[in-house]
Amino acid sequence: MVGFPVPSSVGAVIELLKKSRYAIAFTGAGISADSGVPTFRGPNGLWRRYKPEELASPWGFQRNPRLVWEWYAWRMRIIARARPNPAHYALAALESMGVLKAVITQNVDGLHQRAGSKRVIELHGNIWRARCTRCGHKWLLKEPPSEDELPLRCPRCGALARPDVVWFGEPLPERALREAFEEAEKADLVLVIGTSGVVEPAGSIPVYAKRSGAKLVNINPEPNRYDDIADLNVRERAAPFFRKLMASMGIAMP
Ligand code: NAD
Ligand code: ZN
Repeated sequence: MVGFPVPSSVGAVIELLKKSRYAIAFTGAGISADSGVPTFRGPNGLWRRYKPEELASPWGFQRNPRLVWEWYAWRMRIIARARPNPAHYALAALESMGVLKAVITQNVDGLHQRAGSKRVIELHGNIWRARCTRCGHKWLLKEPPSEDELPLRCPRCGALARPDVVWFGEPLPERALREAFEEAEKADLVLVIGTSGVVEPAGSIPVYAKRSGAKLVNINPEPNRYDDIADLNVRERAAPFFRKLMASMGIAMP
């Protein structure tokens, strides 16, 4: 089964889900692409000609905190307008049926939670949370900040605040990373959805799961890091694929 794109893979994935006792999902920006949230590397990935790697970085923030906040506020406006898609909803439904045990995500958009997923491990933080650079205070933003509030300041101590997300070159939150690897070790099936796998250490989690005995299903319209180790490569966009899967399982979509 290694390596071949299977034309009608819905049935194959349902069979794997039925056989599994501990399935998890590992998701990236691609699962939210069908909700209209741009990936970093796709055609809409560039904002005012800045590279995400320059903006989502401690050095970018040091150079120009306001510019970085403007970019995050722009992304928050897109995410606020976006709705979860059938792929997010399918994962929530599979969890409530007891089939899926956890979603490990690299996304910061909160769409899994909005779709109803309960156990979501966020490896790269959440765009709706801000954090003080001095006292560490964290708080939730209810809506995208307006231009004249930027850069945000800490309500407790007045120091410069930043988005509570993981930037290039920064370590991942320890607890989330530990939990993700624990889930990967327990899993016998991993649905890898919409990720290039190039961002480390997150990208290694499915590889670790595979080495610990899990089967991998790789759902992505483009070739990626997991092609060679996946038990099944599904070369489709996440939303239409999961819409078909849910229909085949007789589960209604909200
Ligand atoms: P990536 O941009 O490196 O890769 C996106 C992957 O999604 C690609 O492999 C692409 O082929 C695939 N893809 C595109 N459209 C798809 C679709 N409709 N269905 C399924 N797959 C599709 O994204 P990454 O691997 O998540 O790494 C980028 C980093 O940027 C992450 O760490 C993440 O934190 C961050 N990011 C997050 C968001 C978000 O929260 N929505 C958006 C952009 C970037
Ligand atoms: Zn503070």
